[in-house]
Amino acid sequence: MTEDQTLGTALVTGASSGIGAQYARQLAGRGWDLVLVARRADRLSALAARLREDTGVTVGTVTADLAEPADLARVEARVAADDVALLVNNAGINGYGPFTEVDPGLLAKVLAVNVVAPTALARAALPGMVARGRGAVVNVASLLAFAGGLPPGPLPHRAVYGGTKGYMVTFTRTLAAELADTPVRVQVVCPGLTATEFHLTAGEAPVPGEERVHEEGGMSPADVVTASLAALGTREVVCVPGLADADAVERLAAAELAVRRGSGASIAGRYRSAERSEA
Ligand code: NDP
Repeated sequence: MTEDQTLGTALVTGASSGIGAQYARQLAGRGWDLVLVARRADRLSALAARLREDTGVTVGTVTADLAEPADLARVEARVAADDVALLVNNAGINGYGPFTEVDPGLLAKVLAVNVVAPTALARAALPGMVARGRGAVVNVASLLAFAGGLPPGPLPHRAVYGGTKGYMVTFTRTLAAELADTPVRVQVVCPGLTATEFHLTAGEAPVPGEERVHEEGGMSPADVVTASLAALGTREVVCVPGLADADAVERLAAAELAVRRGSGASIAGRYRSAERSEA
């Protein structure tokens, strides 16, 4: 099975640069009609014009700040329409910085863009997909979803960003289990460092001017999207584009089960002894 069996309209958030623009290019190349969503209207209309010319597919644009409830509501209405067979929740910002110093307003925006918006869009899209018996949702997380056990350096300070991407992983895996007896597919893709303009801004405002690539480099967005679309075909729920040993994801699930199954109804012994020594 390939994702092309659900051809229709794909709505891609964060399509004005990087990984999102690459989803748009590859999906248009496969014959998908598109709705491109982001804040930078000029970038969206330039990409839409190019894709129409190169591929002949229909491309619409929605200029929206996904952290703004009224804008999000417009995108929810569009993604709920009958023609949408694929939602790519790709828009994301990092808000990196030491937790005690980062502007709380920026952190709220990270949560709004990385968690609230993709959840709301999936909630808007999925009832129709399930009713029509076809469709897919791809959520873009990050390898940093799995970085809770690592020290900050050399990685950026990322408590909230990592938390939002961890949410995307748990949300998607749990939803995949819930929808397992439907033809609708859900995937979370976890790129490592990717060569986009992601690190050029914390995310409050878009990067101005022409599309650029941050100095940190990384995997090409084309490879990330190639992996994600291939994984849709195989129904792999957790797609890690750079991970050669796919069993590592199974081992992670097994470790989670050990924590759950090893946890009983009575308090663990080490906490009881702490209680005694405090008394
Ligand atoms: P880019 O910065 O190139 O792309 C981010 C996209 O999100 C842009 O199109 C931007 O458009 C859009 N966006 C940001 N804020 C908003 C907003 N408030 N409303 C609507 N759209 C918004 O980075 P990437 O392509 O790298 O990032 C795409 C995804 O990949 C993100 O979710 C990121 O977390 C994830 N990722 C990236 C990695 C990397 O190393 N690059 C690694 C792992 C995951 P605009 O500014 O026009 O609104």
